[in-house]
Amino acid sequence: IKKQVSKTSRSKLSLTGKTPVQSTITNNNNSNSEAKIKPIGFSENESTKGEKEKKYECPKGIDQEIVSMIEDSVIDRSNGISWLDIASLNEVKSLLQETIILPSVMPEIFKGIRKPLKSILLFGPPGTGKTMLAKAVANNKDSIFFNVAPSLVVSKWRGDSSKLIKVLFEMARFYSPSVIFFDEIDSIGSERSANGEHEATRQMKSELLIQMDGVNNCKDCRVIILGATNHPWLIDDALRRRFEKRIYVPLPDKPARIQLFQMYLKDMELYKDVEFPMLADLTEGYNGADINAICRDAAMISIRTQIQRFYSGSNFNLNSQTLQNIQIQNVPISVQDFQSAVSRIKSSVSFQDLEKHTKWFQTFGSL
Ligand code: ADP
Repeated sequence: IKKQVSKTSRSKLSLTGKTPVQSTITNNNNSNSEAKIKPIGFSENESTKGEKEKKYECPKGIDQEIVSMIEDSVIDRSNGISWLDIASLNEVKSLLQETIILPSVMPEIFKGIRKPLKSILLFGPPGTGKTMLAKAVANNKDSIFFNVAPSLVVSKWRGDSSKLIKVLFEMARFYSPSVIFFDEIDSIGSERSANGEHEATRQMKSELLIQMDGVNNCKDCRVIILGATNHPWLIDDALRRRFEKRIYVPLPDKPARIQLFQMYLKDMELYKDVEFPMLADLTEGYNGADINAICRDAAMISIRTQIQRFYSGSNFNLNSQTLQNIQIQNVPISVQDFQSAVSRIKSSVSFQDLEKHTKWFQTFGSL
């Protein structure tokens, strides 16, 4: 990939969805940290006037296939998710934004005890927005985002998995500032009995621990490690300790559920008696993904009801010909449509799992 080292205009971000922050980085601001990093492979050429491009070149002894694979399927470019697409979770958003943006725009404030964070673990029940948060981080144009999917970890690179981790971190240092995201990190770092653990997984985990130590202890490296897991209790102690912050991403509370409904239904027609606090009350214990599914289902139920009303009494066969006779536009969604959707869609998070998360948060979580 080609990274633009020099840019004067940068993206506008909003810290909590309310305060817009202008982040402007010039080549000069970055030059200190970049100059201190000594990549193994490096080539730099002038492409357009005033802009330089950096391209990682595979060093001797490193498999070019791994480098190409990381460039093609791990480096994540724009994915369209912005901070504003994520309901609630303002504290986590601010923490991530501070971690990623502040060291770039105000490197001078990080001296003495005030060090930028290097590693953050997001944990919590599934469907609560952990991956969305990581994707919003990926959209920060000031850093390169390495998205390590669990499938990559457990599949074809098994044989070479520790080398994969090594090259990954090498490239992240080269392209810094950068963020490495391990989704479902428990797939690498889970605690297993010494005999039961696959040798390649063990090697990969050891390499990850070494590389994380390197990043956590390096003053000038601008690499941030982000992990996400729905099962933090499966992560072994050594890996858990290496995350400087372990942030709980919980189920949405009532105000968050209200925000989610407002977000998902913003373009929809609703009957007058449909009120967001009432929908939030109907969905206590549901995660964001469930609420999204409920809104989609309720929206479809309203259409179905409309069609059935049109053909009331008669047995109709849904096909394009019969539908030509009906005008379906802006069908409002009713309270009953939401109630039927909620009765059809069960919460995907069990009470037992919630208890485990709360306990883990109390023991190992960061505030
Ligand atoms: P996780 O990684 O925690 O399992 P995701 O981030 O993949 O969950 O979220 C799954 C889906 O749930 C998203 O695509 C989105 O539709 C919805 N969702 C969850 N949390 C939120 C949120 N806070 N704001 C907006 N949508 C959310």
